[in-house]
Amino acid sequence: MKDGVGIALRSLRPLFTSNESPVPIARRISDMEESPTLAVTAKANALKVAGESVIGFGAGEPDFATPDNIVQAAVRAAQDPASHRYSAAAGLPALREAIAVTASQTSGQTIDPAQVVVTNGGKHALYNVFMALVDPGDEVIVPAPYWVSYPEQIRLAGGTPVAVSTSKETGFRATIEQLEAARTPSTKALVFVSPSNPTGAVYPRDEVEAIGAWATEHGIWVVTDEIYDHLVYGDAVATSLPAVVPDAAERTIIVNGVAKTYAMTGWRVGWSVSPPAMAKGQGKLQSQLCSNVCNVAQLAALEALTGPQDALISMREAFDRRRRLAVEHLSAIPGVEVVEPEGAFYVFPSFEGVLGRDIAGRRIDTTLDLAEVLLDEAKVAIVPGEAFGTPGYARLSYALGDDDLVEGIGRIGEVLAA
Ligand code: GLU
Repeated sequence: MKDGVGIALRSLRPLFTSNESPVPIARRISDMEESPTLAVTAKANALKVAGESVIGFGAGEPDFATPDNIVQAAVRAAQDPASHRYSAAAGLPALREAIAVTASQTSGQTIDPAQVVVTNGGKHALYNVFMALVDPGDEVIVPAPYWVSYPEQIRLAGGTPVAVSTSKETGFRATIEQLEAARTPSTKALVFVSPSNPTGAVYPRDEVEAIGAWATEHGIWVVTDEIYDHLVYGDAVATSLPAVVPDAAERTIIVNGVAKTYAMTGWRVGWSVSPPAMAKGQGKLQSQLCSNVCNVAQLAALEALTGPQDALISMREAFDRRRRLAVEHLSAIPGVEVVEPEGAFYVFPSFEGVLGRDIAGRRIDTTLDLAEVLLDEAKVAIVPGEAFGTPGYARLSYALGDDDLVEGIGRIGEVLAA
């Protein structure tokens, strides 16, 4: 099934939302799903506020405070009246310049600041990109497991997301054969994500090369989400697609941001780097949609990119330690199978071995059932694989403290052993 994306998601609605309404909301919104990652996080937070001892593996969000040099840059920015005014919709010139320098280094291309559009986080950058790139009737190939917002944003732009399923047997990486089987005359673009959310898979250089060459051969755009590019572990290396396939650059859009690398999820600064006409289109959309991103947050992002990088290194070390802890403790649970993630801060184990059982007096047929029971019985929040187009699995973010991580996985093991 090629357009299976999102069908499983519909079943999340009764679990995570209660927004039935008699108001005739426009179809593009009523047909859309709420972000399940944010919904799980909100639900866990609500239980915490109600006094429950909930351990949240839901949000993909570092538990660290933003490094102080970045916070101090924001304080100075807030005190400068220039920050109190509108600024250029596509971003502050100094930040666009800094992003262009960084993106030139990683992509191997000479990026002009005019190719950069600064956005309210990576999610907004992706929205701009799909709106500028996708026409009604266009198909966009999205390897599954996929991050929850890609299919919904593609649909909002009038396009059709086409899921290509990967599995733990292939390390959750799509092959050229799979991409080729999904390609039709309507294929406009491929969403390429390495390191991957939700699996932590990192494509080796030769596979990135092959995918870039395939896209170039067929005139397919690549939207490459590089938001986790600094978070790779062991021998893994994040390879930027245009760096190894320069010919793909004229049809490649890079999305990135400061959220994950610098523990700045709440500051909301992301960006896209596109071929000039495509960047201009996104800038036009942004000028009508929301104008500039908060100037204070943009100047904090500028400090993140241009200031000392030592905090990044120590946070990455902590994530690596937690990654190994998560794999060790999850693998010890009977019926749970784990592919070791090489990047990002997620682990995506298979729970297929525990499905079909009764747990705490309830029948567990799906990972949706499992997520519900774990929240009720273990007070542990995970995101069921259905949200990522891959039932039978679940995503756990290991961007939480070591003690909570071990305690939370221990609670899962206890519930599953009961
Ligand atoms: N990207 C993060 C995650 O997957 C943030 C939540 C979201 O925006 O979906 O958890």
